[in-house]
Amino acid sequence: MNMINNNTPTAELQKLDAAHHFHPFTDKAGLAKKGARVILRGEGCWLTDSEGHRILDGMAGLWCVNIGYGRRELGEVAARQMMELPYYNTFFQTTHVPAIALAAKLAELAPGDLNHVFFAGSGSEANDTNIRLVRRYWQVKGQPERRILIARWNGYHGSTMGGGSLGGMKPIHAHGGRIDGVEHIGQPYWWGEGGDMSEDEFGLMRARELEEKILELGADKVAAFIGEPVQGAGGVIIPPKTYWPEIQRICRKYGILLIADEVITGFGRTGNWFGSQTFGITPDIMTIAKGLSSGYAPIGGSIISDEVAEVVGSGGDFNHGYTYSGHPVAAAVALENLRILQDENIVEHAANVAHPYLAERWAKLADHPLVGEAKLVGLMGSIVLTPNKARRARFASEEGTVGLRARERCFANDLIMRHVGDRMIISPPLVITPAEIDVLIDRATKSLDECYAGLKQDGLL
Ligand code: PMP
Repeated sequence: MNMINNNTPTAELQKLDAAHHFHPFTDKAGLAKKGARVILRGEGCWLTDSEGHRILDGMAGLWCVNIGYGRRELGEVAARQMMELPYYNTFFQTTHVPAIALAAKLAELAPGDLNHVFFAGSGSEANDTNIRLVRRYWQVKGQPERRILIARWNGYHGSTMGGGSLGGMKPIHAHGGRIDGVEHIGQPYWWGEGGDMSEDEFGLMRARELEEKILELGADKVAAFIGEPVQGAGGVIIPPKTYWPEIQRICRKYGILLIADEVITGFGRTGNWFGSQTFGITPDIMTIAKGLSSGYAPIGGSIISDEVAEVVGSGGDFNHGYTYSGHPVAAAVALENLRILQDENIVEHAANVAHPYLAERWAKLADHPLVGEAKLVGLMGSIVLTPNKARRARFASEEGTVGLRARERCFANDLIMRHVGDRMIISPPLVITPAEIDVLIDRATKSLDECYAGLKQDGLL
């Protein structure tokens, strides 16, 4: 193979990529025909591809580059840590400074009595940890039959066997099956499923499905409930305000552990450090990843309450762990990322500068003929595409057809916005400025206009 670099012609890179790189969540044959977009570098909210396009990244990568691209400090910290101690494990009563410092920092940042961190390499791994952790908790408490986890349809918790099983995405279950001991209830998606109910009534109704499920299974069989404060991969579904307080009440009533999957909502995404704070949730465990290192290094983890840590810790060995649990380079990078988030008041910028400006412009997208509603919490937002707003109607075409067309227009206009079915979603870097928000909205509007015209032209409206 010839050596390749950033100057290699795009077609050659695409050919090699198609020949040897098996991409996640991708139709391999389809991609080989088309060729992948090759991203070369990033700076702030902007990416440059191999054809010289300057692309505004409205998704912060995969919801993770909270501090933006191109921060040299993280590279410097990584290089220093690699020279000092590139690797050591945290098994067998051993530790190292980056893991200690990061765990202590997370205990300081996390709300309430969430004071203990179990490290993983990703969000999926952390959720696998959580499955073992809650089952072990009940074993140590003398109730080993409490092993079922309840989650939501259309939730996303990763794509390992554990994470994919907690998630409620049937296409993922379809490829490889799912583990036993996980049950799903309905999602708090009012626009799509709320019928004639008000949002508040619907939120309560969906939360009470948890109680029904617990009673159906028997509370003595249920270990935990897991949910994302705001469903991300499911389409940025912001729950009605009645939802989380009722879930919390039900978990407390039946003594069920509450896991908040904060992989997306953590580290400023919703305008607070954690989505649990935005929605008034007091979880026993929080799953973290993504914004923990702003994606600069792969790292995730579970932040665990004093009580859960004490119980599991009193049971002798916890037979679980990863070679890269608390990896020193990843931990050092995460720590530097948290320092930047804090020292530069980036969460405050997201909440008090970027959010209000984006909220005003985002809401106006609902006036577009193709858009039903536009929702935003912090810096995660969604719009729903519809042929008829008043009826909250779906398109006659297969779900996702219109969303994909809209995404392709965004792609062509150098804006990264993702589609989930016929919803369009954003989650830009938290450092986005009002001027960049203007670019985002202008490009999104242009893309929607083009999509609308195309649908009309093709007789799909
Ligand atoms: N939980 C949530 C809420 C997520 O959004 C994701 C990733 N999108 C995961 C878990 C899985 O994280 P990872 O891809 O790092 O395994």
